[in-house]
Formats: sequence, C-alpha cells, structure tokens
Amino acid sequence: SYAGPSAEEILSKRQKFLSPAVFHFFKNPLNLVDGKMQYLFDEKGQRYLDAFGGIATVCCGHCHPQVVDAIVNQAKRLQHSTILYLNPAIAEFAEALAAKFPGDLKVVFFTNSGTEANELALLMARLYTGCHDVISIRNGYHGNAAGTMGATAQSSYKFNVVQTGVHHAQNPDQYRGIFGSDGLKYARDVEDIVTYGTSGRVAAFIAEAIQGVGGIMELAPGYLPAVYSTIRKAGGLCIVDEVQSGFARTGSHFWGFEAHGVVPDIVTMAKGIGNGIPLGAVVTTPEIAKVLAYRSYFNTFGGNPVCTAAGLAVLKVIEKESLQQNALTVGSYLKQRLTSLKGKYEIIGDVRGRGLMLGVELVRDRQSKTPANVETLHVMEQMKDMGVLVGKGGFFGNVFRITPPLCFTKEDADFLVDVMDYTLSKM
Ligand code: PMP
Repeated sequence: SYAGPSAEEILSKRQKFLSPAVFHFFKNPLNLVDGKMQYLFDEKGQRYLDAFGGIATVCCGHCHPQVVDAIVNQAKRLQHSTILYLNPAIAEFAEALAAKFPGDLKVVFFTNSGTEANELALLMARLYTGCHDVISIRNGYHGNAAGTMGATAQSSYKFNVVQTGVHHAQNPDQYRGIFGSDGLKYARDVEDIVTYGTSGRVAAFIAEAIQGVGGIMELAPGYLPAVYSTIRKAGGLCIVDEVQSGFARTGSHFWGFEAHGVVPDIVTMAKGIGNGIPLGAVVTTPEIAKVLAYRSYFNTFGGNPVCTAAGLAVLKVIEKESLQQNALTVGSYLKQRLTSLKGKYEIIGDVRGRGLMLGVELVRDRQSKTPANVETLHVMEQMKDMGVLVGKGGFFGNVFRITPPLCFTKEDADFLVDVMDYTLSKM
C-alpha cells in the first residue's frame, strides 16, 4: 500500500521546484510507485504492462531480485568512487563485459550515462586520429552534452550553441529514404562527405545499431560494412552506439552491430547495462584506449562498486534466464502479430525492428506517408487507460516504440496487440 503524495501533489511540486525541462508522458501523468518484472503499479495499485521500460533502462525486469540483491549487498558493504583504490566489483564486471565482445574489443571505461560514454568515444577517436571531423547519421541521437549534441541529428534535441566538426550523413532509412533498402547507395553519401567536406581524413563515424529515439529505424542492409570501409580508408574510427540496442535486446545477437557483420573500433553502451542503475561504458581496443593515459582522465563515479555490482548481476541474469533467446522468440512473435495488424488498419504504415526493439509507424495515408502524430498520441493514451504502456518516437512523433523488459512473454505480446487492435478499431 502507498501512503505518499498523490499524482497531483507531485505534479505541483515538480512545477514549482523542478526544471521545466523535466517532462512527462501522458495528459494525466502516471505516478509509478512499484515495479515487478514487466509490470508497473501506480499509487492506486493499478497495474500496467510495461512495453517501454527497456528503453528507460530495464533489461532484466523491474526490481529483478538478483539485481536488487547485488545492489543492496554491495551498498551495505561499500559504496565509493572508482578512482584511487582497488575494488573487486569493477574488475569483475569489466572482465565479464569484455568477454561479450569479438576481436580486440577488450578494454572498458565506465561512465554514468550514455551521453558521457559517447562524449568519451568521440574524444578518444579525435585523440587517436589527430583529426576533428566526425560523421553521424541524420535522425540519430547520441546525447545532449557539447560533442554528442553535435552528433545528434534531430533539431528537437539541438540548442543553438556551437557544435563544430560534425557532418550529418543521409539516413539509410528504408521506409522514407530516397534509396529504399539499398544500403550501398546511402553509404555513398558518407564517401562524398569525406571527399568534399573534410581534408580527406576523419576522426570517426558514429551511428546507433538501430536508431531508437529516431523511431526504431534499422539501417539499410549493406550500409555499415560499406561505410566502415570508407571511414577506415580515411583513417577514422568506427563507433557504434549500443545504448538502446545492446544487451541482447535484438534477440538474434547480443549487440546490434553483430547483425551487420562488422566489428567496430569503439562500442558505447548505457541504459540496459545496469537494469535501471546509472551506468554507461565505452569498450575499445588496448591500442585506442592508450590515448587516455597521456593525461589524467577520470570519472568520479563511473564504474563505482554499487553500479558495477548491478552490471555483473545483469549479465548473469541475461545468461541464466536465456533473455536473448526470449527476445528473439517473443520479439519475432510480437512483430508477426503487429505486422498482421498492418493488414487490418490503413493507418499502420510500417512495422519494423528486431527482437524486443520494435516500431510501428502511423501515417494518415500510405502513399504520402503523412505522419499521424495526433493519432499516435491518442492511441498511446487509450492503451495506457487499458493498462499497457508503449512509448513513442520518431522525428514526427508518429512511431510507437515497443521496447519491453526482456522477460516479456508471448501472453504479454498478445495482450499488447489486442489492446492496440481494440483502440485502433475505435478510431
Ligand atoms: N545514445 C542513445 C542511442 C540514446 O538513446 C541515448 C538516450 N536516449 C543516449 C545515447 C544518451 O544516453 P543518456 O540519456 O544516458 O545520457
């Protein structure tokens, strides 16, 4: 039972004491007070099926007992900064995390967030190559600090401050892009940027394995291998942002990049890594990692004992509960059911994604692809009232983002689709 303040009271305190930049979902925002695996509970005890918590960090499920135990036990023993002294938690987690990567990707640096991880990746690439130019993809999101806001390529997330040295390449968008699914044609744009927009040498190319904020956009097949080859010829490093797509979410692979048959030079991650605990990481090769040793570089809390204890527990849970397999099985089933909804409703323009990282794009007309953003919001509100939380995204705000905790079941998938079906039938 809950004895705390009501949603209205909290809202009024937020309006008074919190930055107006702190926003919330839904007209009447939910006051969530408890979580259990794929479920969330509001102050009145109303239960919601959480089909969006994955993006907001929960990979194993809300309050997963094994992860909670790891956090509590470590907090009872010691919580401290990462710098200055030894502690077993960070070393154990770094070893376990490095084991998840192919090739020479064996060195970890911990941060507190995805933004910090990407800032560090860009810094390392610039130091390693001695170049400043970075190429990212339009519609991508990489964070909101100086460098990452530059790499982010959606006006909604950009403030009018100096963001130098980043070129934004055409998005290999298979739904709206001018070259359809021809990854090689989009890759030519990166080649042109290198040729015409830089000295011919670049620091890095950064891209999400699947664009999350941008509306669950899968990169057109063939794109990444071609771009990686262009970038490497120009002396640059290839960075993949796995903040949303990593940690078994795509089902077929542990990391999103693996589906493209490439091995990046730097991988960044956050969100799911700690099942809700603030943690991020950059994984790279020993050779590239060396650039940070030329000066003093540290992060006070990045990789602290409590957060890394949580991270290690997450890896164990993913393994023990076969969550990658579950993401594949349940995700494929859910995608198939959503695709059949597309057959029933004209408003569904596209269903896409992999594993438990799925997107459903609503359009007013399938030919013109006019974004049905008001309709998307409406459906989202209705689904919430029926106990299902989905997210929304895409530049136009017309894409449902379905990224549940990886413990999502086939029955949960059925419930979600049935509720979406019912809501769409009433429109
Ligand atoms: N990269 C991606 C792909 C993201 O989705 C986000 C957050 N939405 C970030 C980086 C930034 O992470 P954070 O908010 O933890 O700084």
